[in-house]
Amino acid sequence: MSFFTLLKNANIFSPANLGIQHILIAGAKIAAISPSVSAPIGCACTTVDLQGCILTPGFIDSHVHLIGGGGEGGFTTRTPELNLSQITAAGVTTVVGCLGADGLTRHVDSLLAKASSLEQEGISSFIYTGCYQLPPPTITGSICKDIVMIDKIIGIGEIAMSDHRSSQSTEDDYRKLAAEARISGLLSGKAGIIDLHLGDGSDGLKKLFAITSDNEIPKTQFLPTHVNRSSRLFEESLRWAEQGGFIDLTSDISPARNAPQSIKPSLAARIALDAGVPLSRITMSSDANGSTPLFDSGGNMIGTGIASQASLLEEIKDMIRTENINLYDAIQIVTTNVAKALKLWPNKGCITIGSDADFAVFDQDFNLVHVFAKGRQLRKDGEAIVFGTFE
Ligand code: ZN
Repeated sequence: MSFFTLLKNANIFSPANLGIQHILIAGAKIAAISPSVSAPIGCACTTVDLQGCILTPGFIDSHVHLIGGGGEGGFTTRTPELNLSQITAAGVTTVVGCLGADGLTRHVDSLLAKASSLEQEGISSFIYTGCYQLPPPTITGSICKDIVMIDKIIGIGEIAMSDHRSSQSTEDDYRKLAAEARISGLLSGKAGIIDLHLGDGSDGLKKLFAITSDNEIPKTQFLPTHVNRSSRLFEESLRWAEQGGFIDLTSDISPARNAPQSIKPSLAARIALDAGVPLSRITMSSDANGSTPLFDSGGNMIGTGIASQASLLEEIKDMIRTENINLYDAIQIVTTNVAKALKLWPNKGCITIGSDADFAVFDQDFNLVHVFAKGRQLRKDGEAIVFGTFE
């Protein structure tokens, strides 16, 4: 593999459309973007012609169960780990891993190890410390120390609210957690984001509105997710976004995928935009490899499935093809907006000189063709060419 790579003739969406240009990659970084840049004289350089292709920033998936999740139906319902090629198949080049309902048999330490392995295999990875319940499990014994001292830990999550699997925490509990996330983020220069799992509970976002009503902790400290799981929750989340908060759609939660009460994510994005929610407040993540349990009205688990990362790309396609959201807007929902919410921008989520060379490349019908992460090609002509160690 040469140190330099020249991507020629790509129609670049940075996310703004830069037209047809060449990109020179040096190592893991973008060194030049221009219609005339050429390979450095005297240096080995790999050239890839992307004539007729659309090139966007690699997608950022902010909510992934990297080591699996679930277990609500007993040990046999614990879901498996993700592999590298499953991630890149969705155009994703940056993941944020989380635990979930199970903070007992799964650990933040093993999540960190898995994230580190994906980083070595070729993509970029971060994690949240904690799990559904409070007080949260950590690596160092302190949320603050985890965020400040461990590079890959950029926040807390997924913390459950309005869910029968939560620790039924009080407003005060959530408020104190938010304070710890806030100061840890400030001290470390990270987002210190609280990735907040919203369940089916009748309280919805009530506690979130309550703990931010005095505007002391900014609403942007929180990333409430799964907001499209029901019309009732989605209506509330639109109010949250109108007041300045982020809303994170879950691409795997859809009427066609085991969630009959939910709003299809691409349609939810359309509804939010029509309601006047600023595009910059909308993000989408997959919930990949989380379990998707179904409970009856008595709280008994009556079925389960596994969330798919592929849904992220499918929903972006549906935003463009079915909901008439233009490509420039649609890709921001899984690139720029996420990078800004997680304070990874401009290193991630945009195409500019000096940022990481993470790209998803599509044909004219927005089918994924190639993926580059940190300057290295991981998928070619629709197929993975780099695999995880045990794939
Ligand atoms: Zn969740």
